[in-house]
Amino acid sequence: MSRIRNFLNELDDYELAYFAKFKLLTYMKVTQSGIKEYLAERNFNESKINKLISENPKSKLNDGKKRCERCYSEKVRINKVEWTNTGGGIGIKDEIATWDAIGGRVTYKDEVICNVCGFWLEDPNQEKPLPTSKKILNGIWEFIIGTLSR
Ligand SMILES: [Zn+2]
Repeated sequence: MSRIRNFLNELDDYELAYFAKFKLLTYMKVTQSGIKEYLAERNFNESKINKLISENPKSKLNDGKKRCERCYSEKVRINKVEWTNTGGGIGIKDEIATWDAIGGRVTYKDEVICNVCGFWLEDPNQEKPLPTSKKILNGIWEFIIGTLSR
């Protein structure tokens, strides 16, 4: 709990509001109740959270920093990932990457996730939790590609 507390201490009120609305529920029940205590300590309640989100002054910022599209925090995490999702693409760029993958060359892409609200800004491998139907669709693509490259 102390690790998450340290993280929450670094958030401003607006960031904390987004965190409470979008990310709180992704934690385990025990951690959630700890976070709720913390929110109470900072005098957060549902109406305050909604008010902060609707007011968010950062949505008007234009400072060229990489910001989350949902909460406008600049606390985003960028991971360089090996691009594995070469199957579902349609564009020319994607086709090149597909050929690179077949030729054994690895394409790296940025995976960008907001640390505050959990929003995926860039998801090259489509790893973010998806509704099941889309996962199945990805599976179908992999099946087709697998058949073609045999
Ligand atoms: Zn965010």
